[in-house]
Amino acid sequence: MEPMKPLIEISNLSTHFHTAAGAVKAVDGISFRIHHGETVCIVGESGCGKSITAMSIMGLVEGPHGQVVDGQILFDDRDLLRISKEEMRRIRGNEISIIFQEPMSSLNPVLTIGKQIMEPLMLHQRLSKKQARARALELIELVGIPRAEQIAESYPHQLSGGMLQRIMIAIAISCRPKLLIADEPTTALDVTIQAQVLDTLRRSKEQSNMSIMLITHDLGVVAEMADYVIVMYAGKIVEQGDVVELFENPKHPYTQGLLKSKPVIGQRKEQLYSIPGQVPNPLELSASCYFHDRCESCMEICRSQQPQLKTVRAGNQVACWLYEEEARHE
Ligand code: SF4
Repeated sequence: MEPMKPLIEISNLSTHFHTAAGAVKAVDGISFRIHHGETVCIVGESGCGKSITAMSIMGLVEGPHGQVVDGQILFDDRDLLRISKEEMRRIRGNEISIIFQEPMSSLNPVLTIGKQIMEPLMLHQRLSKKQARARALELIELVGIPRAEQIAESYPHQLSGGMLQRIMIAIAISCRPKLLIADEPTTALDVTIQAQVLDTLRRSKEQSNMSIMLITHDLGVVAEMADYVIVMYAGKIVEQGDVVELFENPKHPYTQGLLKSKPVIGQRKEQLYSIPGQVPNPLELSASCYFHDRCESCMEICRSQQPQLKTVRAGNQVACWLYEEEARHE
């Protein structure tokens, strides 16, 4: 039987930013795929390239300073890096939607919530005003907000952060996208509201077989949502694999460190573990393992040669010299 074709396949994606001090390789030759109905979480500290990966997929890295310099993004048989701007505009918000951490910055303060949900429906789905209004009310209910009629007449400043984020999800899923990218969607919210927003995302996905690419630095969110996890460090993927295997048997010392730093409910620790050291300066990266300065298992080879992603046990991939032997026997 032929393996199922992924919804999106990213190959060797590299996005650079040109600064006065030199080129910053924000995303450095990464490859991964997302299947239909799958939730893939991209995890890593801030500045590791996860948001720039999302912006690159959406065609939002533009201008003289930032540029996708290499790679392929195959989405439903089209290479998003090689289609016209016009076609990309049609895909954005229609087939691929994105939500950000701060809903206020994406909403128009002088338009009612109802109008903002109706707009893409009339534009992309060619619904009449009446049909769009009915669908907007349906969507408000779908994301778990009661009194839809009243909410539709409200302005953004009249709603709480959690409600606004759910409205953003309503707008993002209004055109039934195949892929929803959520960039730290719950980071600005308190824990109870976070749970409601994650639940809304999960229910929206179940209703439409949509795929989700969820960017987060929060391993609690990953554990709750992910089918598959990608760990990024300094613009590169250092480990990726099935969520259960990755949580039970993390291979890369960075992934192990991230998992150690996660608070565990019911276990009181004097201090949470934090990985010693700093993320390297992106302008001073050498041909080494980028994690070597912070790694307790660092060997001679790690300082002079960069490990490549290799498949190890259970099909997960890791870029670390500790697993060369294991990868050879796979
Ligand atoms: Fe540590 Fe070496 Fe593995 Fe890098 S390659 S994570 S320095 S053991």
